[in-house]
Amino acid sequence: GASSAKFFVGGNWKCNGTHASVEKLVADLNAGEVPSDIDVVVAPPFIYIDWVRANIKSAYKVAAQNCWSKPDGAYTGEISAEMLKDAGVPWVVTGHSERRLLLGESSGTVGLKTAHALDVGLSVIACIGETLEQRNAGNLYTTIDLQLQPLFENVKDWSRVVLAYEPVWAIGTGVVATPAQAQEVHAYVRKALTDRLGKTAAQSIRVIYGGSVTDANCNELATQEDIDGFLVGGASLKGEAFVRICNAR
Ligand code: PGA
Repeated sequence: GASSAKFFVGGNWKCNGTHASVEKLVADLNAGEVPSDIDVVVAPPFIYIDWVRANIKSAYKVAAQNCWSKPDGAYTGEISAEMLKDAGVPWVVTGHSERRLLLGESSGTVGLKTAHALDVGLSVIACIGETLEQRNAGNLYTTIDLQLQPLFENVKDWSRVVLAYEPVWAIGTGVVATPAQAQEVHAYVRKALTDRLGKTAAQSIRVIYGGSVTDANCNELATQEDIDGFLVGGASLKGEAFVRICNAR
């Protein structure tokens, strides 16, 4: 990307792994070289985060894949942003489409959760993106607007937010957006940020692309003006491929 922002690569491990596979992946990541002037964050399942945090080299930071939207309390099965902060986890992913679609998380909830995590002191990778049905019905930008709205209403400090544009039809399908398709939406998001927050702030916010990113397609995507990095699912489970994606630019 050509904006003033530092390149950012996130690895979303989703609900995958065993202790043995996590150890192997961390060893492979530790053996790789990633540029020192970019941010790289990996998001293991909750139960492995602390082990990864303690064993991965400092070039990589850790993230949780989700958190609760309120402080500690009677919320069985949830993990609070306060707990992540206390456990030394600096990042959290919010609004991933799998949580929106499989677990019914609304854009309103994502807005509140994102703001709460920021208030607690975490940095956030907030995800947006349309389904194929929404795109084919001509509702691409309406969808993006509706997902951004609660973020604009609730987030006070955008300096610790990375926005991930992940078209649902590209996630886990092998159907990556073309560089032009991705750039078109990233430019729209950049304009929305500019209109709301001003040019300087908008240029410094990372807008990253996710959806079937691999070490084979990352270089061309990374040349697009408004693509400031990637959120990687499947390919982040392969250490060597992920390290190559970190070196995309
Ligand atoms: P994918 O997932 O790279 O496997 O398509 C991306 C994501 O869901 O973040």
